[in-house]
Amino acid sequence: MEGRVVVMTGATSGIGMAAAGSLASMGARIVLVARNRERARQTKERIEKVSPHPTAHGVYLADLSLVADTIRISGEIARNEPRIDVLVNNAGGLYFSKSRTSEGLERTFALNHMSYFLMTDGLRRSLVPGSRVVNTASEAHRGAPATLDDLPGMKDSGFRAYSRTKAFNILFTRALASRLSGAGVTVNCFHPGLVPTRLFGETGWRARGLKALAHLIGVSVEKGADTLVYLASTEDALETGEYYAKRKKRETTAFANDMSAAERLWTLSEKIRDGQRH
Ligand code: NAD
Repeated sequence: MEGRVVVMTGATSGIGMAAAGSLASMGARIVLVARNRERARQTKERIEKVSPHPTAHGVYLADLSLVADTIRISGEIARNEPRIDVLVNNAGGLYFSKSRTSEGLERTFALNHMSYFLMTDGLRRSLVPGSRVVNTASEAHRGAPATLDDLPGMKDSGFRAYSRTKAFNILFTRALASRLSGAGVTVNCFHPGLVPTRLFGETGWRARGLKALAHLIGVSVEKGADTLVYLASTEDALETGEYYAKRKKRETTAFANDMSAAERLWTLSEKIRDGQRH
């Protein structure tokens, strides 16, 4: 990873923070996209301690649940980073109360899917032959209903909304991979395992139950980050458009394999982006 540029969302905590530390210790220059200034500062400090190039890393601040802010920040990064070796779309949330962003999108959909789409869209010109995109998905996608019909609003909330967006991460990976295959850019997604992180930080009984389960049977953040680090840094030839867990390619559901659904989701995401621009 020496000299490689890694742009990563959701690196100020949990799986992303562990992955950013590993990649930095291998010599990568990490460009963090974070919402909270103080957490970003602390994360940068942690990265600097393990990095052979302590002064190289960068921080950008944005609320990735907002379309306009994500378009803005991806444009800013694109202007400063003409070559991105690895883009990691990892920021995510699990919300048990239903809510919409100030732009009117269901919050889980906005953060977990639209931020992946918009970051990649904004940075596409900086992805060069040999670049990689790594999207954090989840085994939770297996419970997702096979529909896009209620988007861009979403009738679901809580874990159901979360599992749907994790299926969208796989659909997005497949649609992006098919667009970028001629450009020599590989695109893959992965499941980190069940990891006790701030993802289960809400106060209600469902979040507390999941958190307790994750502490009981989950894996460490370092283990959770392992497949991300592998997909970002391996010298093995990688296929593209695939879903991984524990460094191995895995089958997904019929819905997550459905290229027509992937294309519909792509078109819808473009409409949401264009609606915000106008
Ligand atoms: P986490 O809460 O520790 O990390 C989430 C990251 O996203 C944080 O850095 C947070 O600041 C960032 N983020 C949240 N909202 C944001 C916003 N509006 N704008 C900008 N950044 C924002 O949780 P984690 O478990 O490390 O989650 C990372 C990824 O792993 C997520 O995509 C999640 O869906 C996925 N995942 C987690 C598990 C698990 O068991 N923890 C399992 C499967 C998949």
